[in-house]
Amino acid sequence: MSVTAIVGANWGDEGKGKITDYLAKKSDIVIRFQGGNNAGHTIINEYGKFALHLLPSGIFYPHVINLLGPGVAINMKAFLDERDDVISSGVPEPKLLISNRAQVLMPYHIMFDKLEEERLADKKFGSTKSGIAPFYADKYLKIGIEIAALYDEAALKERIQRILSVKNILLVNIYKKEELKVDRIVEEIIHYRNKINSFVVDSTIFLHQALNEGKNILLEGQLGALRDPDHGIYPYSTSSSPLAGFASVGAGIPPYEIKRIIAVVKSYSTCVGAGGFVTELFNEQGEKLRNMGGDCGEYGATTGRPRRIGWFDCVATKYGCRVQGATEIALSLLDVLGYLEEISLCVQYDINGERTDDFPTTDKLQYAKPVYKTLPGWKKDISNIREFNKLPERAIDYIKFIEDKIEKPIKLISVGPKREDIIIRK
Ligand code: GDP
Ligand code: MG
Repeated sequence: MSVTAIVGANWGDEGKGKITDYLAKKSDIVIRFQGGNNAGHTIINEYGKFALHLLPSGIFYPHVINLLGPGVAINMKAFLDERDDVISSGVPEPKLLISNRAQVLMPYHIMFDKLEEERLADKKFGSTKSGIAPFYADKYLKIGIEIAALYDEAALKERIQRILSVKNILLVNIYKKEELKVDRIVEEIIHYRNKINSFVVDSTIFLHQALNEGKNILLEGQLGALRDPDHGIYPYSTSSSPLAGFASVGAGIPPYEIKRIIAVVKSYSTCVGAGGFVTELFNEQGEKLRNMGGDCGEYGATTGRPRRIGWFDCVATKYGCRVQGATEIALSLLDVLGYLEEISLCVQYDINGERTDDFPTTDKLQYAKPVYKTLPGWKKDISNIREFNKLPERAIDYIKFIEDKIEKPIKLISVGPKREDIIIRK
C-alpha cells in the first residue's frame, strides 16, 4: 500500500496533471482534495489532449477509482459536462465518486465571483471566475451546502432562503442586480442532484476500507504552494490549501499514511493572476519563452489567458518545496529550455539592498529584485531521451544546480507533454 501526494511547488501549472496521469497507471484511487473546476490539468495520452478541470487525472484508466474528496468545490453541472466530454472523446467510462461531505458550488458563487472582480476593476485578483472564493468564503461562514444536505428538500429550501436573505441585499445594493429567487435555485440544484446521485458516496468509509485493503492512492493537488492561503503570497492566493498537508484533510486520509510527497517543479516560472512574481520577464525573451513553453505556448488551460513568465526562481521554489514537505521532485518542462544559448536562474532576492535566500512575506516580496546566475544552455531536443545519463551534460548540470539550491532530490524529469515523455532517475 502507498499514499502519494502530487502537488505544485510553484504558482500552479507545473504539469501536475501529466505526472498524475503517468503515475495513475499503477494506482487504484486518485483523489482531488481541494479547489474546484478552476483547475486546468493538461493531459496528452492515447485518447488525445485534455484539460481536466474538476475530474481527477486518473480517469483515463478503467481500473482507477477517481474521487472528489470533501475538500473539493463541487460544481455539479461542470462535473457532468466534463464527464460527458471525456466520454464523447472516446475515453472509456471513468469510475467517479463524489464525497457526500463535499459541498456544492452554487450558481450564486459564480455570479458573485464575476461581480466582485468587475467591481474591483484594476485591483482585481485575476480570478478564473468559477466561484471558488465565494464558495470557500461561504463554507467557512458556515453557509455552505453539503452534498448530503441536498436530500432533505424542505430543509434545503429553508437554508437557501436564509442564505439569500443576505446575498440579495448585497446583490441589489452593491452590485445593482436583481434579487435571486429561492424556488429557481432549489429547482436547479435538485435537477443536478438527481443526475449526480449515483456518484455520491460516504468517502470516509470508502477510504478507510481502501487503506485496510492496501490500495495505492494518489492525492492530486491543484495550483501550487505559493498560492496557499497560509503560506503563499496572500492575498494573491487561492481559497483552499494546495499543500500536501491539507491533502489529508481534504481527502480524508490519516496524515501519517502520506509517505511520498512529489512536488512538481517547473523548469522555468509561470504564474496566472496577480501577485509578486520576482523573475517575471516583460521583454522579447519572455515572449519567446511563453511561445516555446507548455505543449503549445503558456496560455491558461482554463481561461486561455497568457501566463506571466519568468526564469526559474530558486528562492520561491525552495520555499514551495519546503512548505509542501516534498520528499522528492518531479522537474517538468525541461525540454522547453532546449532552444536557449544561456539560461538564467534566480539564486537570491535583493530586498532594499539586502540579499536573502529566504522567501519573504507579501509586503516585502514587492520590493524583491532577482539576483541571477547564468548557466550555458544545451541547445538540443531532449524530448526523446528516457535515461538520465543520456541527457546532455549541460542539462544534467542545470538539474543538479536546481537540486542543490532547492535541497530536494529530483527523481522524475518530464521532457515533453505526452504521458511517455518522462525520465525516471535511478
Ligand atoms: P497543471 O495545472 O499543473 O496540471 O499544469 P497545466 O496543464 O496547466 O500546464 C502545464 C503545461 O505544460 C500544459 O500545456 C502541458 O501539456 C505541458 N506540459 C506538461 N509537462 C510538460 C513537459 O515536460 N514538457 C512540455 N513541453 N510540456 C509539458
Ligand atoms: Mg493548470
